[in-house]
Amino acid sequence: MSILKIAIQKSGRLSESSRKLFEECGIKISNGSGSLKVIAGNFPVEILLLRDDDIPQYVEQRVADIGIVGENMVYEKKKDVAVLEQLGFAGCRLSLAIPKEESYPGTGFFMNKKVATSYPVLLSEYFASTNISAEIEELSGSVEIAPGIGLADAICDIVSSGSTLLTNGLREVEMVMKSQAVIISNRNLDPEKQKILERLLFRIRAVKNARENKYILLNAPEEAVEDICRILPGMKSPTILPLAEKGWCSLHSVVKEDEFWDRIDQLREAGAEGILVIPIEKMIL
Ligand code: ATP
Ligand code: MG
Repeated sequence: MSILKIAIQKSGRLSESSRKLFEECGIKISNGSGSLKVIAGNFPVEILLLRDDDIPQYVEQRVADIGIVGENMVYEKKKDVAVLEQLGFAGCRLSLAIPKEESYPGTGFFMNKKVATSYPVLLSEYFASTNISAEIEELSGSVEIAPGIGLADAICDIVSSGSTLLTNGLREVEMVMKSQAVIISNRNLDPEKQKILERLLFRIRAVKNARENKYILLNAPEEAVEDICRILPGMKSPTILPLAEKGWCSLHSVVKEDEFWDRIDQLREAGAEGILVIPIEKMIL
């Protein structure tokens, strides 16, 4: 029987979320033992634990059939793989940062400067597209210390909160690209592996939808129902159930997590009471 080989990061910022995603898909991966290869107990997949830099290459060469990696890494490595799905975690951006005391007149700042980065491909594409000629100093890690030790005038690195930049006396001035974790796949999977992949993607989408949505329940007087239905952006139309108290009913619907906070004041103004917002485990559309 066929087995789908999946590469994930061994340890780092992607590894815990990748494991958690499989867990929520009902795929049990044993922890520990230090092995670089783990077979799942109840789904035909084998997990390979690797450094994130190597994942695009291994997927291209079919050492692994699919992999989870940051978009930044996929586009930096320029391997011939298919990007199948954004996963909604490990959100960050690749940005240019300069010593915080320097004034910044615009991208012209970088003209003839030396910029340290672990992303030479993405950075040189960015400089080409903005007509900047600058020197790129490739470093494999600890890029943020380069200006402080006189190795470069600026850096281009991954930023999420910006606190690492701050502690190194740097400030972010330009965004080169946004990134999040994605699933990449080899372009020539055989039909059996393709079938397993489709079953896996079905589960992943159900988990992703569930994470992005909440189940909402609220009480309202009957005369407010029409207004409330208009405010609630549900999957379909909301469920409306009568309450024991005459003239009142309960409305149930599904709302997007990020839309919920925008709508809450409108719902209360329209007469909604006793609003409950509940996490969803899986959501199949
Ligand atoms: P490895 O040892 O596997 O090579 P690494 O040190 O190169 O690991 P990590 O720092 O774990 O890599 O980052 C892996 C990926 O996680 C990055 O390529 C990026 O997509 C994402 N990432 C990095 N930093 C952050 C951050 N601060 N917040 C969110 N996501 C991040
Ligand atoms: Mg790495």
